[in-house]
Amino acid sequence: MACAGEGSNSSGVKLKAARGVLTAFMKSLDEYLLDAEQAHGHLCAGQVLGVRLAMLGLIKLGIEDPRGNKEDRKRLVTFVEIDRCATDAVAVVTGCRLGKRALKFRDWGKVAATFVDVNSGKAIRIAAKESAKTLARQMHPEIADKNQQQMLAYREITDDDLFTTQWVKVELPPEEFPGYRGERVVCEACGEGINFRREVRTTGKVLCRACAGESYYQPI
Ligand SMILES: [Zn+2]
Ligand SMILES: [Zn+2]
Repeated sequence: MACAGEGSNSSGVKLKAARGVLTAFMKSLDEYLLDAEQAHGHLCAGQVLGVRLAMLGLIKLGIEDPRGNKEDRKRLVTFVEIDRCATDAVAVVTGCRLGKRALKFRDWGKVAATFVDVNSGKAIRIAAKESAKTLARQMHPEIADKNQQQMLAYREITDDDLFTTQWVKVELPPEEFPGYRGERVVCEACGEGINFRREVRTTGKVLCRACAGESYYQPI
């Protein structure tokens, strides 16, 4: 896998990324799908969609090997908008993980993700088209099982028919970066430590978000 010669990252090279024919360092769709299947536990239409979506994001940003190449890895932050199968696949392809702070979750219930090149500031948001399901049905009416039908069709449909893409700007303050080292404060109400500037300062008090009223749980 790590065939990247030290320091020979070709980020300046214009990428010829015809569909299915990828860059020297990037894996193929089939290879990523194998990885995704292992990580996710099964192969499903969502995995195919997620792998395709993430590959397109990397190609658009010219980031070839975020899992193997150290420089590429540090360049990428990914926002995902749903906690479903496709998200696992996005994490597999990009190498961005919640625990590394390189995967950001915005719970919007959409099969969409935004890929941010933190070096250049370039960012692209890619969303699955609503029409893809209908297209899959038209392409493979012979397959009754929806998941099987979509799994096959999502391999074949062109990027343009499968996704909408949009260049965007993403505000990433320092505390959002994976390597951020900031002060840790203690909530004045519950005494728990808070990292990454997630504290709320109101009426002269430093509170965690739960104590400030955003709690998702209630003590019983
Ligand atoms: Zn799945
Ligand atoms: Zn608290």
